[in-house]
Amino acid sequence: MKIAIVGGGIGGLTAAALLHEQDHEVHVFEQQEEIKEVGAGIGIGGNVLEKLGNHDMAKGIKNAGQVIKEMEILDDKGHTLNKAVMKKGTVNLTLARQTLIEIIASYVPDSVIHTGTKIINLVQNSSKVTLTTEQGEAHHFDLCIAADGLHSIIRQQVNPKAKVNYQGYTCFRGLVEDISLTQQHTAKEYWGAKGRVGIVPLLNNKAYWFIAVNAKQGDPKFKDFTKPYIQAYYNHYPNEVRRILDQQSETGIIRHDIYDLTPMQSFVYGRTLLLGDAAHATTPNMGQGAGQAMEDAIVLTNCLSKYDFREALSRYDALRVKHTGKVIKRSRSIGKKAQYQNGLMIGLRNFVLKRIPSKLISNQAKFLYKTKAE
Ligand SMILES: Cc1cc2nc3c(=O)[nH]c(=O)nc-3n(C[C@H](O)[C@H](O)[C@H](O)COP(=O)(O)OP(=O)(O)OC[C@H]3O[C@@H](n4cnc5c(N)ncnc54)[C@H](O)[C@@H]3O)c2cc1C
Repeated sequence: MKIAIVGGGIGGLTAAALLHEQDHEVHVFEQQEEIKEVGAGIGIGGNVLEKLGNHDMAKGIKNAGQVIKEMEILDDKGHTLNKAVMKKGTVNLTLARQTLIEIIASYVPDSVIHTGTKIINLVQNSSKVTLTTEQGEAHHFDLCIAADGLHSIIRQQVNPKAKVNYQGYTCFRGLVEDISLTQQHTAKEYWGAKGRVGIVPLLNNKAYWFIAVNAKQGDPKFKDFTKPYIQAYYNHYPNEVRRILDQQSETGIIRHDIYDLTPMQSFVYGRTLLLGDAAHATTPNMGQGAGQAMEDAIVLTNCLSKYDFREALSRYDALRVKHTGKVIKRSRSIGKKAQYQNGLMIGLRNFVLKRIPSKLISNQAKFLYKTKAE
């Protein structure tokens, strides 16, 4: 089959790698001049690695990943509120984003990736999909996979009613080197009235951090929030937070407002299907956006190898729509509680969190392992 993939991010490239291996004629269109990831680090859950199985890509990711065994939630004074322990027998990893995309891209032949090529239009009928590039070229395909991210222009064409929702907080991120953390297998989040600070270990004495702070969409208050401002804002947070911010270079800090999509009813529109953030962008609170994009790619490839074309697309829809909708909702709800800034609500939340058995928190991620891959 001749397949177009719009977007060479984590989702699009995973799909390209797996579909190419199944002898489909794959073409990836990426608007950027090169394959690169914006962002610091990323967590890849055991649910994704389980679905990748014995594929070499899983081995590559495991080799480059820092194993994370638990997620600790603390208050802004450094007192532990609770801990989520990763599911027994699973491997949960963190990597630098650029490392992850390079590993995935290494399974896609260069000749298949058309960088510097933005898709601006899609037309489809019962027998083909036609994509037009910004340069005015038209290309015909049997199937179009829209992996063009949160603000997908393909989604806007096939489902203009899909709703992108600002979640009320903005996120700063950075990556630091030469830092030794006391617990190399623990990701930590400090929850306080001024926001949530996450510190996540990476291999080789590196780590990434993020700060989620309540803000208006595009809030000018945080526009020039450079390193000294961030340090001053969080100088009452525990030593570990101050230490990692101190280690951060002046220039490497990025900021993104946080959005998700209202869960959709379908990801399949004729000969076009949505994958990754284009289909189900979620808040980062469960660390599952990229993981679910990779799972989409795995499931789609399995379905196309097992069923005929139409059945494969229906099966993809059946396996992915409901599941990713649940991820969006759960992640959004975690974010709401984590971002409380009212003292009373924080006190109540922390009181409850300290008393909930850790097992209950850990179990929140159990459903991620229950989906089928075909
Ligand atoms: C702060 C933060 C932290 C996160 N942490 C995690 C985490 O720990 N774990 C996790 O699993 N997920 C995490 N995520 C989510 C994760 O980053 C995304 O879910 C994931 O990157 C989505 O991949 P994608 O390939 O679907 O889309 P994208 O990464 O957005 O890729 C889309 C690609 O399409 C290209 N493109 C767009 N439009 C066009 C066009 N018209 N023509 C051609 N190319 C186009 C873009 O240039 C881009 O390269 C986080 C997100 C944020 C914001």
